Amino acid sequence: MALQWFRVPKDIVFGENSIEYLATLKGQKATLVTGGSSMKKYGFLDEAKKQLEKAGMEVSIIDGVEPNPSIETVLRGANEMITFKPDWIVAIGGGSALDAAKIMWIYYEYPDTKFEDLINGIFPELRKKAHFVAIPSTSGTASEITAFSVITDPENHIKYPLVSYEITPDIAILDAVIPSKMPPHITAHTGMDVLAHAIEAFVSKNATSYTSPLAIEAIKLVFSQLPVAYKDGENLNARQDMHNASTIAGMAFTNSSLGLVHSLAHKIGGEFGITHGLANAILMPYIIDYNRKESDRYDEIEKLIGVKNLADEIKKINKQVGIPLTLKEVTEVEITEEKFNEVLERMSKNAFDDPCTGTNPRDSCPNDVQEIFKAAY
Ligand code: NDP
Ligand code: MN
Repeated sequence: MALQWFRVPKDIVFGENSIEYLATLKGQKATLVTGGSSMKKYGFLDEAKKQLEKAGMEVSIIDGVEPNPSIETVLRGANEMITFKPDWIVAIGGGSALDAAKIMWIYYEYPDTKFEDLINGIFPELRKKAHFVAIPSTSGTASEITAFSVITDPENHIKYPLVSYEITPDIAILDAVIPSKMPPHITAHTGMDVLAHAIEAFVSKNATSYTSPLAIEAIKLVFSQLPVAYKDGENLNARQDMHNASTIAGMAFTNSSLGLVHSLAHKIGGEFGITHGLANAILMPYIIDYNRKESDRYDEIEKLIGVKNLADEIKKINKQVGIPLTLKEVTEVEITEEKFNEVLERMSKNAFDDPCTGTNPRDSCPNDVQEIFKAAY
């Protein structure tokens, strides 16, 4: 019998000022983990500390988690936890801070863990010393709900996706006030990442009756609310809808996995440093054109959300949120034709080998991937 499952955190708390839920936790000590400066600057780190102290806890802070967090940062944080001995780990920040905190948690509970083992999917049993709360500040990665963490080896620029339901947080807190401070371009990129998660979850070979309705709800929310959140960052209704959409899409894709959009985005991200959500946003319409020849799931999406052509709708929304149609038009990094052609074959082969390729609705080959990259360039 092929066993199937659907797993998500025990508690999802959402709504404006839901950060106050921290005051209801029971424990002695909590360690807050955060990124660079944004959570400090807008007062959310202080607020989290205040709420944990209200709960009667002693609080320590580990900050300075960098974008694309490294194993060194993880070990530094774990060592601080080993000294402080928290029974709660509370990660507040973008996907980077959340991902790093998840792996600090492992090294705190099991200091002798071999990174090699984690890469190979061998994880120890957690929750012997601490439980984990995730408070995302971006509406994108859904790390607050997923079994994933992405840790980077800065020496060879390799991103290691670490996967185990052990590192799914116990509690996710979705407070719209926190992402309302995201600047428009981060709102756009992370928001289109949500759309990619939702669409890929729906068309995935591993989609189930548990994941598909969540994916559709997230697609609807992004189409209606991302342009609003992009234009008017302080609109808390739009922010809460996008924040919920991110987690809802995460509930789907952590159980159904993803597809070629993510395979290609991971590799072009590695080669050129293009932001993940931006790469997804540009690639999506081209991969829909490729996949739909062998999948009628896109027809279903169009029927369920009431649009004529999904790829065209994505191009429209990209335009509304300042995202170009092709890779060569990207301005945050320069993807020159010369370098693109130079790396194309290797990048396509690597994208084909990405773990996300296996659940793509259409079976592909490295040559197909190369053609998709060329179309999107
Ligand atoms: P990051 O966490 O990398 O943050 C990006 C930037 O946004 C940082 O400079 C951060 O500043 C800033 N920022 C975050 N929140 C706010 C806010 N509310 N207001 C103002 N500025 C803010 O971005 P992402 O959330 O996109 O996470 C990307 C990471 O997640 C990558 O490492 C990626 O590989 C990984 N990932 C993880 C997945 C998972 O399931 N675990 C899935 C997909 C990707 P500061 O540092 O100062 O806070
Ligand atoms: Mn993604």
